[in-house]
Amino acid sequence: MKTLTVTDICTVLNGELFPSSSFQNFSVSSIITDSRTFFGGSDVAFIALTGPVFNGHNYIAELRQKGVQLFIISDKSFIENTANYILVEDTTSALQQLAAFNRRHFSYPIIGITGSNGKTIIKEWLYDLLSANKRIVRSPKSYNSQIGVPLSALLLDEPYDLAILEAGISERDEMAKLASVIKPNIGILTNIGDAHQENFSSLEEKLDEKLKLFTGCKVLVFRADRSYSKHISDFCSERTINSINWSLEKQKAPIEITPEIQSDKTRLSAKVADKNYSFEIPFTDESAIENACHCFATLIALKEKPEEFLERFSQLQPVAMRLEIKHGINNCLLINDYYNSDLNSLGIALSVLKQQAAKGHLHKHVILSDIQQTGVVAEELYSKVNQLLQEWGINKLTGIGPELYKHSHVFDIESEFFPNRLTFENHFTRNNYTSSAILIKGARQFEFEKTAALLQLKAHQTVLEINLNALIHNLNTFRKLLKAKTKIMVMVKAFSYGSGDVEIARLLQHQNVDYLSVAVADEGVQLRNAGINVPIVVMNPEQDSFQNIIDFRLEPNIYSYNLLQQFSDAVTEYGQSNYPIHVKIDTGMNRLGLKTKSEIEQVVEFIKSNKQLKISSMFSHLVGSDEAALDEFTLEQIDSFNSLAAIIEKACDYKIEKHILNSAGIERFPNYQFDMVRLGIGLYGISQTGLQLENIGTLKTTVSQVKTVEADETVGYNRKGKTGKRSRIAIVPLGYADGINRKLGNGKGCAFVNGKRAPIVGNICMDMLMLDVNGIEVETGDSVELFGPNISIIELAEKLETIPYEILTGISQRVKRVYLQE
Ligand SMILES: *Cc1c(COP(=O)(O)O)cnc(C)c1O
Repeated sequence: MKTLTVTDICTVLNGELFPSSSFQNFSVSSIITDSRTFFGGSDVAFIALTGPVFNGHNYIAELRQKGVQLFIISDKSFIENTANYILVEDTTSALQQLAAFNRRHFSYPIIGITGSNGKTIIKEWLYDLLSANKRIVRSPKSYNSQIGVPLSALLLDEPYDLAILEAGISERDEMAKLASVIKPNIGILTNIGDAHQENFSSLEEKLDEKLKLFTGCKVLVFRADRSYSKHISDFCSERTINSINWSLEKQKAPIEITPEIQSDKTRLSAKVADKNYSFEIPFTDESAIENACHCFATLIALKEKPEEFLERFSQLQPVAMRLEIKHGINNCLLINDYYNSDLNSLGIALSVLKQQAAKGHLHKHVILSDIQQTGVVAEELYSKVNQLLQEWGINKLTGIGPELYKHSHVFDIESEFFPNRLTFENHFTRNNYTSSAILIKGARQFEFEKTAALLQLKAHQTVLEINLNALIHNLNTFRKLLKAKTKIMVMVKAFSYGSGDVEIARLLQHQNVDYLSVAVADEGVQLRNAGINVPIVVMNPEQDSFQNIIDFRLEPNIYSYNLLQQFSDAVTEYGQSNYPIHVKIDTGMNRLGLKTKSEIEQVVEFIKSNKQLKISSMFSHLVGSDEAALDEFTLEQIDSFNSLAAIIEKACDYKIEKHILNSAGIERFPNYQFDMVRLGIGLYGISQTGLQLENIGTLKTTVSQVKTVEADETVGYNRKGKTGKRSRIAIVPLGYADGINRKLGNGKGCAFVNGKRAPIVGNICMDMLMLDVNGIEVETGDSVELFGPNISIIELAEKLETIPYEILTGISQRVKRVYLQE
């Protein structure tokens, strides 16, 4: 960004300056919003963003220790005279204003992309096509939100001559703000699909909202073949925007393109005015063809000579938009990011590495390709990389590529360098990689997926894929239902409802949840060993585990007087005091818990005279918060919880937190949040009231073999699988030992293969099942989904007359969990 002084910033924001007693008007050269990714320096300003989920003001003290001297805030009560503050009404708007101000200083072309799909891919492909000719700055990853867009626009700076920024909206009135930040000269509208339609009354209303991005454009690129294309043309002609639309369906358009799909590629012939161009892309699917056409049309919009770029279309590669977290050899954890390599995305990937390596338990190793950062002198660029690696506490660097090889002298951490990937692979020894979290990050042409293959644990191909972004989305969806002061405990018992183990807890810790809760002490010990330091409640503390509980600072659920006495003795024996416990009150579940007034009074008496224990919270559990027919009972439970809890409250002279709501309770009884809620199944994507949650888990595998059976043959044990006609059968390596319920056999269940559902034929075996794939083109190695985006866990649960909880927790531990994160 362009450097600004403190008073400049104050003027731009129309804010009120509260200078420190020793104020000097210093220069600010970057804006930060996340204390976790900041390591030091004084020429920065921190903007304290606030939202339903977080409050940036809470990090001011920490940042002052790290040397930050300027804070842009909206809450006056944080002002002190030892630092400088600019008070504004709304800090998100302040961020947008600063970004808009920064953007106005640069007159090179800015491409703005919006639409329902393809934004990030088009941005990356344009970068791949154009970067040999231009110095391009672009949005990191898919930074396209109300906060992501301004952070991207703040990256605009002198050395570039083209910017490509994407903008995404989900609600009305959001685009105007992003438009004022981006102010594109060239627009690309990808398409308008169903996403976020619930927030708009019609498709047209959503389209109008998106078009707001392009009001000031000179040129707009869009597809002519859509039902709404006329509307876009009208928008352009009213504003004298030049429309560069294109057609694949022989509509009259400035660019007419004819696709010819071959086995593994597509040849595109384009007619522009009276010129013809022809190029190839290594894809055959509809969305890739559409994205490539958008890129081609953008070259025309930029007034480039297309013939200079045509060859490069055949080199385009899939854009892996997410990091992949996998188990590696020798107890390593791999974080794969072969998406691109520039300083911004390196910073993002390093923060994931740190989060996953969790303080000192795993060695942090980075395998990095040459950085593609235009406009910075190599020496300076690699010094910055060195600085970043040091700041993130990286233990070892493996640098691959001619530039890194040449600049090995700038690195002060333990490191090794190779001029190319093949040399690296020739020197590769498995034993050099043990108990490390390894980030593998390289620009696409380095083909680091081959490097990753060396380090990957060779497991059978069956995986439960966990989408960590969906998990964060679900967490935030629930957080939005909470009052500002309500704390959140997340239930990670039973390996986070089957979805994994420490990786989920690490993510939740990073998302600042207040408590985690496990079923038994061993689960808590495992989390502590993985570096989790948020408070952890153990729901079933057994006497044998007291030593572990105390050694690992776990907090027991105390559900009986007897247990209280035993635990108290253990605490005394270990010489502890003020040890936090949680008291469970039984209000109708008739499971664990103190049920009667006299039981509670007995506990209270004991606590009063045994100061080594401190009641941190008291809670109860609802029997049927998901069931309308039981609402009256739920309210009775809440009533009885209130009156029993009051006995404890009266007797203790300190604040004790109260909580009763589980996931369905949060959705259906928002008035009874008390001090905290306990989120479980909702995090994993199941809602009782139709909240817009995302699917987090996909159970998938690959076809082992395909064969034909004749009409009179049978499939599987006991000749139960009868097809009645000559049929194609796919054999899939998943069985009841993996947690596939055997009741799904014999046609009751199905799997999703190549776009279609295939019924399970015959009995499910221990390690295998068979699918009837008649009418579906299937080959060995094709991907098979058992549940996920196409077959929901809820549907499966209904078929099996059970609840989603059982489906999720039933997937056996031998099925590898793989984590995806954007
Ligand atoms: C599992 C559990 C929860 C979470 O319940 P969900 O229905 O999954 O939200 C809450 N409280 C207690 C005590 C639990 O055991």
